[in-house]
Amino acid sequence: MSNKSHQRNDDKDNKFNKIAIAVTVVLVVVLIIGGYFIFFHNKDNKINEEEKDVAYTSLIKQISDGEIEKIEMTVGSTTVKVKEKNNEEEKEVIIPSTQAFVELIQEKVAEGNNIELIQNPENIILRIGETLLGLVPTLMLVALFVLVFKMQGLGDKGKVYDATTAKEKVKFDDVAGLDEEKQEMIEIVQFLKEPEKFVEMGAKVPKGVLLYGKPGTGKTLIAKAIAGEANVPFISMSGSEFIEMFAGLGASRVRKLFEKARKVAPCIVFIDEIDAIGSRRTNASGAESENNQTLNQLLVEMDGFEKDEGIIILAATNRPEMLDKALLRPGRFDRQITINVPDKKGREAILKIHSKGKKVAEDVRLDNLAEDTAGLTGAELANILNEAAIIATIEKHEAITNEDLDEAFKKVTVGLQKTSRIYSEKDKRITAFHEAGHAVVSKYLPTQDPVKEISIIPRGMAGGYTMNRTTEDKNYISKTEMEERLVVLMAGRAAEKIVINDISTGASNDFEVATKIAKDMVTVYGMSDVVGTISINVERDPYELQLLGDKYADVIGAEVKILLDAAYARAQKIILDHMDKLNAVAETLLEKETIGEKEFDEIFK
Ligand code: ADP
Ligand code: ZN
Repeated sequence: MSNKSHQRNDDKDNKFNKIAIAVTVVLVVVLIIGGYFIFFHNKDNKINEEEKDVAYTSLIKQISDGEIEKIEMTVGSTTVKVKEKNNEEEKEVIIPSTQAFVELIQEKVAEGNNIELIQNPENIILRIGETLLGLVPTLMLVALFVLVFKMQGLGDKGKVYDATTAKEKVKFDDVAGLDEEKQEMIEIVQFLKEPEKFVEMGAKVPKGVLLYGKPGTGKTLIAKAIAGEANVPFISMSGSEFIEMFAGLGASRVRKLFEKARKVAPCIVFIDEIDAIGSRRTNASGAESENNQTLNQLLVEMDGFEKDEGIIILAATNRPEMLDKALLRPGRFDRQITINVPDKKGREAILKIHSKGKKVAEDVRLDNLAEDTAGLTGAELANILNEAAIIATIEKHEAITNEDLDEAFKKVTVGLQKTSRIYSEKDKRITAFHEAGHAVVSKYLPTQDPVKEISIIPRGMAGGYTMNRTTEDKNYISKTEMEERLVVLMAGRAAEKIVINDISTGASNDFEVATKIAKDMVTVYGMSDVVGTISINVERDPYELQLLGDKYADVIGAEVKILLDAAYARAQKIILDHMDKLNAVAETLLEKETIGEKEFDEIFK
């Protein structure tokens, strides 16, 4: 979320608060005034029901008996003043109906009864008091609605950030790095500009795009940039907003959101934290079934609109594994883009963008800062520059200096260092050799796919990664290929040991994968001569192994161990034979953090 949209939100909240306060004040005033008049001017409430009936019946009798001299009535009031013939004091009596009462007296007068009937005009003040008090329930209802609306945000949540009117449109140029991702988005921008053309052509454009990535990596930014480039409105809502507060409203909010989107289409609908509503459906009740309803409504809406309506839904999450599979089906979020933490080049670009509009001293080295900030997100980098500007102002510097940046860097990363989110030089070095080990060894093993990308930028749980390009669809994997895969997996640890003579925990996943492969080779694929052709699935049935006896289990264990040890030895040998290549790859990684296929192959020429 950028600061700007927060600002807009605050304004809206302020307005709501003012309305709520005004309504409360009016209500209290009305209650006091109304109560005052009713209490002091209307004594109806002093006479209880029973007395009322008795008094009225006896009054009628008195009238018939000619004991009443004068009756004084007030329009709009059911209390009448009665003067008896032989009594100086007047008494008050409540009558059930003024109309019937007046008719009764007129009748008696016509019969020759001598009653003076005075009809006073309406008591305006009393009337006002009563009216005001009568309004109280209505006003209270109104106030309640205002409150509910405010809490629910039914009124105007799903802020429309209208790119066509926004002063500063976010453009692709404001998004640093992420070049490939932007490239993928261009097609969506084109579609939003001219949806009809795409439909005419019969082209298939995704309805929904899921953006995976840690918070602060620029998912919202890139979504806004798409809207900015296409010059269409940007409607955003956070998944957590759908499910807060009262039950049953999540689904209706989803409906509202899409209603709004249809009105302003073509447009971008951005749902942040989609995992809050899109996590796997359960058959539970309560909060979870609420979640289900919201998710179902989202699916209904997504299936409901046609391609030519020009609505593209972008959704962001950093927990893709939580999402309900139904969201990923064709016609829904059928495209997924991972937004990674920026590499060194990306970080430098982000720092450059955010230093625009700030006074920065000429000798400031953003490239140095980029080098020291491996693992930080765009938001954190932007934050460093902001902090630096604050520090420079306090220090009364002409412009932001290297020292200010240093200070800001420390401030922003203090918390991060503890959680080892930020890389030390030593960590980086170990990771570089580890990954270089995987990559170099796989290069010398003919069955292994070519290396596509190597990086020492953390991704998920891993400190770095080596990606291989899959060359062909395979139906079968040969024994040789599996053995060589084991060698590649062992190469990370082997390289660490050889170069640094120390080992890290970074290889645990490699071993896990390798052990699984080795086990399968022995117990599922019959690739061990000693164990023979047999299938044992211990996961399916733990007793299967016991059936065969302890000796057999020992043999299987030994065979798995032999496969793994042999693979480790081979990895070691390949690395020692090609130390120059290992060093070259590791050094390049330390410098650039991520290297692609071309650069990697270059080293081997
Ligand atoms: P996310 O949606 O992934 O949590 P945001 O898009 O809200 O992250 O990013 C927060 C802020 O960080 C942005 O507003 C921007 O200032 C900065 N930022 C993040 N990534 C980038 C980037 N690639 N280029 C420029 N600024 C970025
Ligand atoms: Zn590894």
